[in-house]
Amino acid sequence: MIKLLAKIGCLNSVIIITIVAAVASVLVATAAILTLNQYGLGIRLDLALPLTACIALVVAPPISWVLVGIMLRVYRIEEEMRNLASYDSLTGLLSRHAFFENANRSISLANRHRAAFAVLIIDLDHFKSINDRFGHPAGDAVLKLFADVVNSVARRSDIVGRLGGEEFGMLLPSTNTAEAQEFCERLHDAIGKAVLKHQNSMIRYTVSIGLTASSIGSLDSIENLLAHADLALYQAKRDGRNQTAVFNYATEQVVAS
Ligand code: GH3
Ligand code: MG
Ligand code: MG
Repeated sequence: MIKLLAKIGCLNSVIIITIVAAVASVLVATAAILTLNQYGLGIRLDLALPLTACIALVVAPPISWVLVGIMLRVYRIEEEMRNLASYDSLTGLLSRHAFFENANRSISLANRHRAAFAVLIIDLDHFKSINDRFGHPAGDAVLKLFADVVNSVARRSDIVGRLGGEEFGMLLPSTNTAEAQEFCERLHDAIGKAVLKHQNSMIRYTVSIGLTASSIGSLDSIENLLAHADLALYQAKRDGRNQTAVFNYATEQVVAS
């Protein structure tokens, strides 16, 4: 109901409510007057009904304007709070909480259809030194640029969230290990090409990625899968950064991509 009011707007809502109020009052008044006239009261419909309609037309607009206004304000605040909880304000990606929720839902769906999927942890390399050299706002701009690049490479069905700081999580539905590795390569390439112009400097950065693909039908949660991907991420960092490492589910070993 409130969604409908928000869609049609305050003024249109007031007009509709006023018309409904006027029609309803005329109908109720007609029924009441006809009933009372049976007992010989002799109320004149031709005078009473226009008066009833006029009262409704005068009273309904200000009252409905105030009430609809309050309802729409509450609805917009609720929507804003939902957005704040679901999206990271800097990058526009899913918040940590929303990422976990969406990813676990996607995992349940994949398990029901016995479909493959892959989970990634992506961490910007030496990000602290970008902040140190170019300043925090430049670091923020790099995080936003990273989000744009990921969105440009990802499919619409992929789930991307900011886990915290310069660390991001992804779930790629219907994607096996080889396909996920190809995705990571495309992402490394796209990041290499997307240079940030900051004042007189060109800021380049790289990412390390830990990847794990699900074994079909396993009941692992996103938390467990991310823990495995994290092992691979640390390996990618140890091996020199700007690369992807894969946690192999079957052997429980991390291998370079
Ligand atoms: P590594 O390659 O090992 O990941 O090194 P790193 O420097 O990226 O990692 P480290 O954990 O040492 O530093 C992460 C830095 O990210 C420190 C913190 O100040 C910065 N950071 C976290 N969140 C934000 C943010 O929202 N904006 C900016 N500009 N910096 C952030
Ligand atoms: Mg880092
Ligand atoms: Mg980190």
